[in-house]
Amino acid sequence: MKIAIYPGSFDPVTKGHLSIIERAANIFDKLVVCVMVNSGKHPMFNQQERVALIKKVTGHLPNVEVECSCDLLAEYARKKGSCVIVKGLRAGSDFENEFQMALINRKINPELDTMFLTTEHQYMYLSSSIVKELGKYSVPLQDFLPEEIIEDFERRVHERKGE
Ligand code: ADP
Repeated sequence: MKIAIYPGSFDPVTKGHLSIIERAANIFDKLVVCVMVNSGKHPMFNQQERVALIKKVTGHLPNVEVECSCDLLAEYARKKGSCVIVKGLRAGSDFENEFQMALINRKINPELDTMFLTTEHQYMYLSSSIVKELGKYSVPLQDFLPEEIIEDFERRVHERKGE
């Protein structure tokens, strides 16, 4: 059984992420979407909340599992019995960083390969950070976030304004 891991912050999961999840789920027998800790980012949703949001938008994909982990990615993949990491590539700006991560992961776990799926053109400029920025200005979010989580997102933006 070919198992792939799709790691990221997913704070929150966007339509760009979902497109990668759907396409990777078509290629592999099982796709594990893993919410990783990113020490450089101050999250809007905690890890469990991000897992719940991803589960909400992937209910139609029976071979997708959603988890969170504090492990090193290369170690996590080994534990899950996976030898493929899936990453999404947007503009060239993603490339340098992703290339470095792929090489480091392979160094730590030589059986691990990284497979890149190019973004769909309409999601090329979409990131969770941009969505969080737009959220502050009441811009309609239908083009950026899966319908099922827009309310959760707007509620959190509202709670944060009250802080
Ligand atoms: P971000 O916070 O920039 O949205 P994440 O860490 O959540 O990034 O991203 C996880 C993975 O999803 C990365 O491989 C990233 O390149 C990819 N990704 C993020 N947004 C998109 C998008 N709009 N289209 C394709 N891939 C994407």
